[in-house]
Amino acid sequence: MESINNLLPSLTLVQQDQIKVLPEIYKELNASINVISRKDIDNLMDRHIFHSIILQKIISLKKGTEILDLGTGGGLPGIPLAICLPEVHFHLVDARRKKISVVTEITKRLGLKNVTSKHTRAEDIQNRKFDFIISRAVAPVDKLLGWSRPLLKKKHNHAVPNGLFAWKGGSPEKETSLLPKHEYSEVYPLSDYTDDEYYSEKYILYVQG
Ligand code: SAH
Repeated sequence: MESINNLLPSLTLVQQDQIKVLPEIYKELNASINVISRKDIDNLMDRHIFHSIILQKIISLKKGTEILDLGTGGGLPGIPLAICLPEVHFHLVDARRKKISVVTEITKRLGLKNVTSKHTRAEDIQNRKFDFIISRAVAPVDKLLGWSRPLLKKKHNHAVPNGLFAWKGGSPEKETSLLPKHEYSEVYPLSDYTDDEYYSEKYILYVQG
């Protein structure tokens, strides 16, 4: 929790409490539906929650922004971000119904008003558009971009144009080489925000929509 308070010093006590109880809720729910790998369940705060909220160092999301978390699993990165950004709306989708049942339960227990969730594949979403798509550990960036593009709003409201933020690890070149040359992308190394060795090769890749 200390690392999170250092990263985001302006969280309210309510938000801090919601973050603090998340590991307990995940531990309980994960016992019956696996949404976090068993070997990682004791590192929830440092490796999953911290990892999720780091996006706020990269972009300042405005009130009323609509975000799609594509392949949210048990709600990552969407739920920790939704706790920290109550004026931003998060729509969390996953192709697996069981995972969405975990998301629904967590949303209810925390009383989050800015989260909706749905059991669907991203390719099947219709009549809804978003300012940004976020996605962690789901698919190679070319695939993600193909799914994301039809779901992005045309009107831009932020310092960067609407687009995709993909949480990645390993070599950034491997992912960026999957994109056609003319695509505008940006690599944000997460080691810029923490000394934790775990993040040394992790980054968030932004691709303009
Ligand atoms: N983002 C979560 C889960 C990663 S596991 C986390 O970081 O913990 C990848 C998830 O993506 C799986 O739950 C899988 O069901 C989902 N997924 C893969 N392709 C998808 C698609 N096209 N549409 C929706 N969900 C998808």
